[in-house]
Amino acid sequence: MAKVLAADLIRDVPDFPKPGILFKDVTPVLQNAAALQQAADLIAADAKSQGAEVIIGIESRGFVFGVPVALGLGLPFVMARKLGKLPYDRITEEYALEYGTNTIEMHTDSVTPGQRAYIVDDLLATGGTAAAAARLVERLNGHVCGFGFLVELTALEGRKNILGYPLHALIEY
Ligand code: AMP
Repeated sequence: MAKVLAADLIRDVPDFPKPGILFKDVTPVLQNAAALQQAADLIAADAKSQGAEVIIGIESRGFVFGVPVALGLGLPFVMARKLGKLPYDRITEEYALEYGTNTIEMHTDSVTPGQRAYIVDDLLATGGTAAAAARLVERLNGHVCGFGFLVELTALEGRKNILGYPLHALIEY
């Protein structure tokens, strides 16, 4: 397989957003067109192999990587957004964080029954966000056909939160 160009660009920022967190900053990947294009192409190839019919991006870096995947495959794109951002009829899922909870929402007309949805985000950490996005799709009777991430932080074992779904990550730390 070709070398993943993004691997040399992702920047470690210690103690962001709070002490003890090593933040994986993907902004340098976005500033490099070849790396961004390659990342989108690799995720798109996986989405295609899983038979994706709609791409779901998780706010907000999942939008940045999900939109070029959807465009590359000629598929619809759906936003899974943070609480209070979506204007139309919506469903809501809460998930646990280290301290407290977070909430994401999707419009009720964003996935049709039986539709094969492929969920994209920049990074898999604990998997709480990804699992909540899968629940949103399934509440609309969609079928989660896979997950695509630029980065997986393997030590956090986020895969355990989305067991049973195909999962593709371009880079593992
Ligand atoms: P999680 O629900 O724990 O899998 O967290 C995933 C979400 O949080 C993704 O949208 C990531 O962008 C963000 N995130 C979590 N941990 C990190 C990290 N160490 N560096 C960058 N982003 C992170």
